[in-house]
Amino acid sequence: QCCFVIMLVMQTNFTVGQFQVMLFINNEFVESVTKKTFVTSNPANGKKLADVAEGDKDDVNLAVEAAKKAFKRSSEWRNMDQSARARLMHKLADLIDRDSDIIANVESLDNGKPFKMAKLDVYFVQCCSLLCCYVRKEPIGVCGQIIPWNYPALMVVFKLAPILATGCVSILKPAEQTPLSALYIASLVKEAGIPAGVVNVITGYGPTAGAAIASHPDIRKVAFTGSTEVGKLIMEAAAKSNLKKVSLELGGKSPLVIFDDVNLDEVVPLAQDAIFTNSGQICCGGSRTFVQERIYDEFVKRTVENAKKRKVGCPFKEDTVQGPQVDQDTFDKILKYIDYGKEDGAKLEAGGKRWGNEGFYIEPTVFSNVTDDMRIAQDEIFGPVQSILKFKTIDEVIERANNTTYGLAAGVFTNDINKALTFANAVEAGSVWVNCYNATNVCSPFGGYKQSGIGRELGEEGINLYLETKAVSIKLPAKN
Ligand code: NAD
Repeated sequence: QCCFVIMLVMQTNFTVGQFQVMLFINNEFVESVTKKTFVTSNPANGKKLADVAEGDKDDVNLAVEAAKKAFKRSSEWRNMDQSARARLMHKLADLIDRDSDIIANVESLDNGKPFKMAKLDVYFVQCCSLLCCYVRKEPIGVCGQIIPWNYPALMVVFKLAPILATGCVSILKPAEQTPLSALYIASLVKEAGIPAGVVNVITGYGPTAGAAIASHPDIRKVAFTGSTEVGKLIMEAAAKSNLKKVSLELGGKSPLVIFDDVNLDEVVPLAQDAIFTNSGQICCGGSRTFVQERIYDEFVKRTVENAKKRKVGCPFKEDTVQGPQVDQDTFDKILKYIDYGKEDGAKLEAGGKRWGNEGFYIEPTVFSNVTDDMRIAQDEIFGPVQSILKFKTIDEVIERANNTTYGLAAGVFTNDINKALTFANAVEAGSVWVNCYNATNVCSPFGGYKQSGIGRELGEEGINLYLETKAVSIKLPAKN
């Protein structure tokens, strides 16, 4: 009888409860935008079961809009307590239980699997209840690791630590600009007595050596740290070769939000270190400094004084805090962005040019009156360029902070715990620092939301990136 009802529903567009053979968007059954349909048939007799709405790009767009709205901060779903969500899950489970015959019928008609099996699927019933199961974590094996030039030795350590801890083996490619420390550490690997072949270092260029790692059929995982642009190539190469596991640590345009209740003496230098550390060549640099309206002018004034005091110069001098940029290309790119800042109408408050007359030094540079649409507020510059933006309210700054394709890190300075936690919870970033910045530690997972990456290094999650999980199930003769 159930089977008959289902056939009727499908063939006559008759509805049982709310069920209809249409697209389901925003909790409604709707026709597709084009009104096109396609046929689904019964594999048992080849006959048509139903005309099903044929979704296309426009329908996907509508569904994505609905999903985004449902996931918006403060929406019903985002505000719902876990216990309320659990109640809804149980309710849904009860309804599936109530209608399990209908669902199994639909499944048998549409897919051809025996009704009995379809029913087991609905309940996800184990085929054997007398099972003992254990889970093993095993090393993935041969891993490719490609790293950038901005923290060459640190990146080698980030990459090799989980390799050695899990028992994996590595083919590591340092950046072509900075190959030396990786080679030095390799010599220590040998001296330490680590067996041959466990750590291998291939120096070379990205499109040749790097690409060969990303597409190698015998490399089971690739861990990449570098630009978002190259990260996409790595993922593509992994997909096209052997679907190797991919973890990506990519670029950022991280917001640092300063509320008007802070002590400027403390916060001004910290906000500047957040972006100028390592000559601004830092992936999680606080490259959008958002300052609350009431303290904006004073903050800019003191920031400029601070920038002028920073000691630029020879990397080996004791009091140097800022050395040169890594090479000509990076140097040129940063000066180009300083020009963009001026062209787009930001106010150059300090720096803005080459420092000295040899090497790739750039003056600590500060822009005020920066707005969200300017290129210096949108793109990763990767240099000592601080962009200061003005905001009024916490809701406004949360929205603007998240209005980027990146999501690596964020910071907030305030003495109001409610503001700090509201921002920390709402900002879309893998690391959030409260009243501090760049405070990465080995026990905390590190990585990015959105186009800042996939996966987390460090902490337990960092170890898991290098492990496969195996479930071993054994049939037992008796339950007890
Ligand atoms: P990059 O992407 O140009 O190069 C990184 C590495 O990838 C280098 O070893 C390079 O040789 C290699 N490479 C280049 N093209 C390749 C290809 N086609 N196939 C395979 N490998 C290729 O980045 P970069 O300029 O060296 O570093 C700066 C970038 O790294 C910035 O975007 C920065 O934000 C990011 N970064 C991110 C983190 C993080 O943890 N999220 C840390 C440091 C740097």
